[in-house]
Amino acid sequence: MNPEPIVTRFAPSPTGHLHIGGARTALFCWAFARHAGPNGRFMIRIEDTDQARSSDESARGILEDLAWLGITWDDGPVLGDIGRGSRPVGPYFQAQRLDIYNRYVEHLGRLGRAYPAFETADELDAARRAAAAQKKTFKYPRPADVRPGEFNEARWRRAAAGEPHVVRFAMPPEGIRVHDSILGEVKFAPGEVDDFVIRKADGFPTYHFAVVIDDELMGVTHVLRAQEHLMNTPRHVALQQALTRTDGGAPFRTPVYAHMPLIFNMDGGKMSKRDKAKAARAALKAAMQKDPALTPALAAARAGLAESAVAEFLAGTSDAVEFAEALAGPFAVALPEVEVWDYRRSGYLPEVITNFLALLGWSPGMKSPDGKDVEKFDMEFLARHFSLERIGRGNAKFDRVKLLSFNADAIAAMTDDRFSERFQTWADEHEPEFARRWRALQAPRRSALLRLARPRCKTLRDLIRVVEFAMVADEAVAFDPAAVAKHLTPPGRDALAAFAQRLRALGPNADAAAIDAVVAAVAAERNAKLGEVAQPVRVGITGGTVSPPLGETVAAIGVASALRRIERCLQAR
Ligand code: GLU
Repeated sequence: MNPEPIVTRFAPSPTGHLHIGGARTALFCWAFARHAGPNGRFMIRIEDTDQARSSDESARGILEDLAWLGITWDDGPVLGDIGRGSRPVGPYFQAQRLDIYNRYVEHLGRLGRAYPAFETADELDAARRAAAAQKKTFKYPRPADVRPGEFNEARWRRAAAGEPHVVRFAMPPEGIRVHDSILGEVKFAPGEVDDFVIRKADGFPTYHFAVVIDDELMGVTHVLRAQEHLMNTPRHVALQQALTRTDGGAPFRTPVYAHMPLIFNMDGGKMSKRDKAKAARAALKAAMQKDPALTPALAAARAGLAESAVAEFLAGTSDAVEFAEALAGPFAVALPEVEVWDYRRSGYLPEVITNFLALLGWSPGMKSPDGKDVEKFDMEFLARHFSLERIGRGNAKFDRVKLLSFNADAIAAMTDDRFSERFQTWADEHEPEFARRWRALQAPRRSALLRLARPRCKTLRDLIRVVEFAMVADEAVAFDPAAVAKHLTPPGRDALAAFAQRLRALGPNADAAAIDAVVAAVAAERNAKLGEVAQPVRVGITGGTVSPPLGETVAAIGVASALRRIERCLQAR
């Protein structure tokens, strides 16, 4: 006997980047299908029925992010040629399926379960406002001439004659029960859902309608999605119960539903793009507090924004991500990562992201030999052990610190060669200018820098910060004025000169230990603390006060180079 096939789908709306919560949904759908082995299929469908907000560019970005994460799909758009749907049940872009939806709209009309409605947007707005004034939620009142189960010829004739209209679904009078594999049975009372729109005035289906038609025609057996869609589900179930197929008359099936926990920040707020705005706003406010001369107008000028935009942003009436991004540079704000793309750019590893995402609401429920929960695993493990039963009901917490430490652990566990490869690939994509300089280095120098940097890298991007001092030409080191003022005092300069003299005596190939010994000797001979020598030297060599241990820092650029830099530093002034 062949077990029942399992078909899951990830159905993003292409209105922006892939959100980290969307990636979790895709991952769980993928894992559930893969768990079923050859019986499972995972599909991608692009829900681009919102014409104004959807773009091919966004669809492409989402597919690329999924591919980067290693989430592979069996059916769906072809990456690199996204206009073309692949294989059996496409097209996979809803905008290319309008004739199918129209066929089903008409079908529902004939069944007497859908009817054209002619109220204008203004009329509906007024009704909505009137309801709000009475503190009620607006429910569309079914017109008296609409009788469910009867084809409404007069209305369909007006629609066919070209009168602007939407099409609404006649909700059944009884309440709706939704069986959810995670939340159990969820009941919706009669009348809770009104006669909602299934086809918009522009001829496009609404999300509710397209999703039900496609899940049926594409053979989707399991719908795994975020809990925010739970309230949509009674609409979908009601439609499924009203619909039969136009090819053979079979009733629509209701897939298994599993609504996954929401993802919250550690501070309890829902994780969203708004977090970027929050971070930028807080940073700007702090900067204005510190410097009273910094007015919104000045901030706007620095960020290349309109003054009114900054005022709105500060007042919290706008949370535009573009504003947050424009402010980030000039005010040195580290915007929190929210989308998969942000994590890619920050130098996180895809296998770490998927491991971490898998734990947002699911856990393998296994202990390692030392009694700890098993938390680190790869995609194959996830596919092997994934089940809906182990998805929790409570909100998931997005712990950035833990994610970063997972990433650091993964970097630490790599071989030098692997780390080097991964860094190069990343840098080619995200920091091509740096990548060019990096490739131009001689191999032994590059290896030395890699070894120096790796223990200090939590992300691939960190490498740039750590090795930057070694990548600039000796003549181009910029000495930070604050660091110079603090450490290159007369005794500091004196210590630096003494260090240089002893370093020269060590010869060109001195190693880190020998160089550290020189620092110690210079400190000892002047009865100074180690830092009173090390910091002036660090400023002289790197221009700043932060670098790996001094011996390694000097060894990484070589003695000759170090001496040239110190010379320049001592002459500057
Ligand atoms: N297009 C919907 C979204 O992006 C899909 C919801 C669903 O999975 O049904 O949220």
